[in-house]
Amino acid sequence: LKHNKDYQPLSGRVMPRFAAIKSFFRLPILEVARLGESVWDEKFDIALVGVPFDGGTSYRPGARLAPTRVREVSSLGRSYHWESKTSVFEKINAADLGDIACPPVNLDQSYTAIETFIKNGLKKSKRILSCGGDHSVTLPILRAHRAHFKKPLAFIHFDAHLDTYPAAWGNEYHHGSFVRHAIEEKLIDPKRTLQIGIRGPLASQDDLDFVTKHKMTVITIDHPTYLSFDVDALDPAYAPGTGTPVIGGLTSYEAQRILRSLKIKNLVGGDVVEVNPAFDHGDITSLFAVDVLFEMLRMMTK
Ligand code: MN
Ligand code: MN
Repeated sequence: LKHNKDYQPLSGRVMPRFAAIKSFFRLPILEVARLGESVWDEKFDIALVGVPFDGGTSYRPGARLAPTRVREVSSLGRSYHWESKTSVFEKINAADLGDIACPPVNLDQSYTAIETFIKNGLKKSKRILSCGGDHSVTLPILRAHRAHFKKPLAFIHFDAHLDTYPAAWGNEYHHGSFVRHAIEEKLIDPKRTLQIGIRGPLASQDDLDFVTKHKMTVITIDHPTYLSFDVDALDPAYAPGTGTPVIGGLTSYEAQRILRSLKIKNLVGGDVVEVNPAFDHGDITSLFAVDVLFEMLRMMTK
């Protein structure tokens, strides 16, 4: 692949959408695992990557299966963004860089693999959208962005949970603690952090104390911004395929309204996490994840 025009989805008119080797949005596949780090020198701007790790899960596992399933479901992904009247893929050059090789039995090794992968892309001025994985994967991704941008990021976080919870079973790092670590490590700026969809459950009053103390909520504008979307922000009726469902959440329509109303001038990266195909029905949750990725691609067109 040499020319910018090559970094576009494979047309459904050339190859039917139910066919072909699956990649995110039918984009060209430049798999780092096979082709090596040199693919970062290719002429795309945005990399979609899978992060198939769910070793940070506290309840039901299976989010490791999400990248494969979301790729499959994204075959139906559109390229025209109706509301903003934007032909998204005409304005960006994107590619599927494959999955990050995360050893399923070792969180430390997986964190290292994820951080290294993302850093290698940022070094080549790429923006990266990740498909998890459980929410623990966002921490090493944020570490890489923090190191690259040399300042704490603005952070938009969709979730049912605060993810500021304490250690579990003596383990500091799991999918419910990444926000606490991100603040303590100064990866994100709590005053430029917005959490949407939160409704518990809380482990203790301490979880709320932490949020209050750091004054998290204010909206951000023109600052390097990272968006992390945990699909359990949605009601389980709309996103049953997830590891720790909590009733009383957003509808997929409401989430779409919120995503489309966010004015983010400088989205430097993002992820959608906690899709668990093992508990999904009719791919409802994967379909939603595809839409989150598409909205983030649209935000990156300007
Ligand atoms: Mn979460
Ligand atoms: Mn959650």
